[in-house]
Amino acid sequence: MSELGSTTHPLRVAIIGAGPAGFYTAAELLKRVPAVEIDFFDRLPTPYGLVRAGVAPDHQKIKSVTRVFERIAADEAVRFFGSVELGRHLDVADLRRFYHQIVYSTGAQTDRPLGIPGEELAGSYTATEFVGWYNGHPDFRQRQFDLSGRSAAIIGVGNVALDVARVLARDPDELAQTDIADHALEALRRSQVREVVILGRRGPAQAAFTTAELKEFSELAGVDVTAVPEEIDLDPLSKEAVAQFPDRNISRNLELLEAYTRNAAGGHERRVTFRFLVSPVAVIGSDGGRAAGLKVVRNRLEPSPSGSLRAVSTGEFETIPADLVFSSIGYRGVPLPGVPFNERWGVILNEKGRVLEPGSLTPITGEYAAGWIKRGPVGVIGTNKPDALETVVQMVADLEAGCTNEPERPEREAVEDFVAARQPDYFSFADWLRLDEIERQRGEARGRPRVKLTDVDEMVRLVKNRPPISRGND
Ligand code: NAP
Repeated sequence: MSELGSTTHPLRVAIIGAGPAGFYTAAELLKRVPAVEIDFFDRLPTPYGLVRAGVAPDHQKIKSVTRVFERIAADEAVRFFGSVELGRHLDVADLRRFYHQIVYSTGAQTDRPLGIPGEELAGSYTATEFVGWYNGHPDFRQRQFDLSGRSAAIIGVGNVALDVARVLARDPDELAQTDIADHALEALRRSQVREVVILGRRGPAQAAFTTAELKEFSELAGVDVTAVPEEIDLDPLSKEAVAQFPDRNISRNLELLEAYTRNAAGGHERRVTFRFLVSPVAVIGSDGGRAAGLKVVRNRLEPSPSGSLRAVSTGEFETIPADLVFSSIGYRGVPLPGVPFNERWGVILNEKGRVLEPGSLTPITGEYAAGWIKRGPVGVIGTNKPDALETVVQMVADLEAGCTNEPERPEREAVEDFVAARQPDYFSFADWLRLDEIERQRGEARGRPRVKLTDVDEMVRLVKNRPPISRGND
């Protein structure tokens, strides 16, 4: 038989999760393997993962990366099976019947728990659910966010916290020009939130956000942006660290925050305040059992064994008014059925992308990981490019060493029949392109990039031309 990966004997690869990590993996495989056939599986009918469901609606430019992904998907060797979920419609054993190699690139779909009293109160939410809701992710479309209170506290100083703060503070008329979900736009138009406080447990030199995102606050119309001078003044340990390891992102962040401390109240209706060196202790409830405040403790910094600076409580408490509390302390990966998982790190057990057996820590033949489910929820969309390359280098090395899974049914058609039997409503890439067209057309009529469909049943009905489901007498 001819060599695997040649025209007469193409390498068959399944990629689970059609987000940036999956697409960059596909791109590298197409570049590096002479003949490869790639099938994407995604639990949603729509591709692009966090580019569609995570990137903030007022960051439309970032979303243009989908053009690159579209070109990859247009390659004849690539197919898309949307609305097909691992663990529900098929399992790892099924995949191993059809593919030489399987790549898991399912991202980090949940959030890290905060674990403070009162977290369960009405008005206390996670950034993950809020982001999913305003971006029209089908899983979160039914969530309700009570925005009738005046003040919101956001815990964490990463870029997601800044996204949440901007969406809360930005003029809804500006959001109306984006692809924000209609239900969120409506709720934000009625929002009474006027005070947004963003809380970092360490100092400004340790903040996780990036300068471009911090700078956007200075450009928000109708919003006063402030910071507390004593919290921006660096402590001696941070000063030393900054001098020892100069970092342009940190120094620019410090300049911006310093400028924010000098912002006099501009008389605007909305205000965003950056706070540092405070850790959340408890969400305080009102008599009605809703969030009314966030108790925090002031911190100082001390060296940790890892060499970084960590926050240590000073025992001095403060309560910040907060009708809404958003925990934005990072995402967390969700285990996939039948795939070894490192619970501590929230990632698939792997080395450089090769999935490992839990006991022996030897690679499982033909199984790989890429993206956040491989390395954890850090980095921007572009970080997935080198990450995908690392995984593909292992895949190619294993292919060259003859170390691949040996599927019983490597023919392309076999998968299509199998998927159609398990999930007749699966979305092909052509189906997605039709949905994309519908969304764009609806947007055009309203001067928006698109109006997102958020209900999977409606997507199926529109794309597959099904009649509406009859309800009662209609
Ligand atoms: P992140 O960057 O990891 O930030 C998490 C924040 O939560 C940190 O400030 C962290 O502080 C804090 N935190 C963690 N545990 C805490 C606790 N128990 N109490 C208080 N604070 C706590 O996570 P993210 O914001 O979810 O972003 C994930 C990734 O996506 C990042 O790489 C981010 O840059 C990227 N992203 C990029 C963009 C963009 O480019 N525009 C937009 C969104 C997201 P410590 O540092 O002290 O742990």
